[in-house]
Amino acid sequence: MKVVEVVLPVPLNKSFYYTIPDKLKDKEFKYRRVTVPFGNRTLDGYIVSVIENYEQSDNIKLKAINSIIDEVEILTDEVVELAKWLSDTYLCSIGEALATIVPISLKVPKRTSKIKKSKIKIVNPNFDMTDYQKNAIEQIENAIKNKKNETFLIHGVTGSGKTEVYLKSIQTAIDNNKSAIFLLPEISLTPQFISILNKRFGNIVALWHSGVTTIQKYKIFNAIQNGEIKIVVGTRSAIFLPFKNLGIIIIDEEHENTYKQNNKPSYDTKEIALWRAKYNNAVVVFGSATPSIESYYAAKENKYKLLEMPYRIDKKDMPSIKMISLNNVKPSVSVFSKPMLQAIKRALARREQVIIFLNRRGFSPSIICDKCDTVIQCQDCSVAMVYHKHPEHLECHYCGKQIKFPHKCPNCGNDKYRIIGMATQRVEEDLNKLFPHTKVFRLDRDTATSKQIYTEVYEGIKNEEYSILLGTQMVTKGFDFPRVSLVCVVDADTSLYLPDFRSSERTFQLITQVAGRCGRAEIKGKVLVQTKHPENYALMFAQQYDYKKFYEQEIEFRRDLSYPPFCNIAKITVRNKDNKKSFEFTEKVYKFIEEKINELNYPISILGPSQSYISKLNGTYRWQIILKGNRKYLKEVLEKVSVELKLPFEIFINIELDPSDLL
Ligand code: ADP
Ligand code: ZN
Repeated sequence: MKVVEVVLPVPLNKSFYYTIPDKLKDKEFKYRRVTVPFGNRTLDGYIVSVIENYEQSDNIKLKAINSIIDEVEILTDEVVELAKWLSDTYLCSIGEALATIVPISLKVPKRTSKIKKSKIKIVNPNFDMTDYQKNAIEQIENAIKNKKNETFLIHGVTGSGKTEVYLKSIQTAIDNNKSAIFLLPEISLTPQFISILNKRFGNIVALWHSGVTTIQKYKIFNAIQNGEIKIVVGTRSAIFLPFKNLGIIIIDEEHENTYKQNNKPSYDTKEIALWRAKYNNAVVVFGSATPSIESYYAAKENKYKLLEMPYRIDKKDMPSIKMISLNNVKPSVSVFSKPMLQAIKRALARREQVIIFLNRRGFSPSIICDKCDTVIQCQDCSVAMVYHKHPEHLECHYCGKQIKFPHKCPNCGNDKYRIIGMATQRVEEDLNKLFPHTKVFRLDRDTATSKQIYTEVYEGIKNEEYSILLGTQMVTKGFDFPRVSLVCVVDADTSLYLPDFRSSERTFQLITQVAGRCGRAEIKGKVLVQTKHPENYALMFAQQYDYKKFYEQEIEFRRDLSYPPFCNIAKITVRNKDNKKSFEFTEKVYKFIEEKINELNYPISILGPSQSYISKLNGTYRWQIILKGNRKYLKEVLEKVSVELKLPFEIFINIELDPSDLL
């Protein structure tokens, strides 16, 4: 009997077998998606194999599939192998892994029109490569030509010309009949890079991110499979695209934590890149001005080849960074200190552009009753509600809940509040008062309501329609605007003292990256940083552009306290509506793990239970346990947790391997 082996996106790590109804018996099945009956539900799944001579056992009656979704094969051998590896590495089922790689939501359009193709004039740069660029390009080129599976880490200061190295390397891949994946950490950067790649490579390039429609995605998917699209620029999910002849995977700004997916399967895009490159005998290029401590360590251990690009193009100076201490400053009417305000005025008078960065959206992070000092908190989360002025409301930035501005304090009934602290809307309001004739573009999650905005901001700043770009971390990285001469960091302290082992690293990266946005062309750049902690080592090393010293200090700290890269980490978060239950169950998990570790005699250390940084979220109380050890051992223990430990159904447990933070 002929049956198909189907995996389903459910947390059960096994295959299911279905027979083929007569109406479908002439169809092709291998590697298609199907709809099948499952219990009393109908599910979409993936056919991973077709078995011609299935021996049916007497007591199990197989059900038949309902329908076939795809006309053509949508999975490849590589994708199936990759799904198995994902399942094995990130503790999910093969079906769940496949649902991540090839989303069920990829819609087959009723009529398949081809991707629109425009004639594009292909332009090459009119400058000579620097010696550092030449060296990097040559090494990558050699690896691609000789089909060597190598990983490179480009440590190149901001403005050192990394993009040109990426482009030349992609060109080599294309010339050798291979394809390329080029990843960026955020959608906000895609317009700039798609524009560059289109100019260079014409219509073999496609864009892929969460804002692309499912129909468009399906078309791109097909065009990749039949070889029309050879290059994709995209965010992390583009790593899964089914190129058959992958030659190079580039991950720009490799230090960014957006490459790590937080929900199940909590995969790391960089690890998937390494896996796919190995499978395809391809090259991986990680690039950053501030490599993650883990990647730099891997380069020092000769796992990656380090390519240094220590100077800006034409050996232009790095912009000077000045700290402005807010310690002895009276709380002023403006969010800007005097020197910062002066510098903005001067830059605008010279008709240059300014980038202003503050990592908080809204008007102010909290409001406090003027009489009883009650902070208005989210009902469902242990955080203050953020005050938004346009349109006026309070919003929880963790669960998204919005409420009207409370006209009476819920505690004492008083009707006056103090607006505490600053966020982007407040900065915008100040700028509009101070510079009424200057056009300001505010870029944060509230203005970026459609993906179109990223093109608008890119064009608007590039064409000098706007003089000031103000925003959250979206404005800090990747942009290459020649007329920006000043960068202002309104508050450097937002990430400094979070209880997380990566908080210094994050601060160092953030300041270095945002500083790198100015002085990139003819005009000299200058960076002003407002902080209450000018003596903090991350800020000081960032100010001196001393990545290596920062790295040395950080790696010692990681070694001493045993953090990655010296071990792997697992974070287990337990949630329940009732705080006591949540805690008690976390203790149970703790004891269970402790026993297993002792039984198996594994070198794993276990920390906790402790309350999560945001102890109450969405109405549930959260406790966590942190495990440190080698990934192989961690995985074994965690599998036991999922299989052996009986969960009451109202308890939620989330397991993350090598999470991006411990908050
Ligand atoms: P990075 O990515 O390292 O921050 P970019 O690749 O954006 O830097 O390069 C900065 C600028 O220098 C870009 O505008 C780019 O076009 C230009 N550029 C790159 N290489 C050269 C070169 N060899 N000579 C002159 N200009 C260059
Ligand atoms: Zn909330």
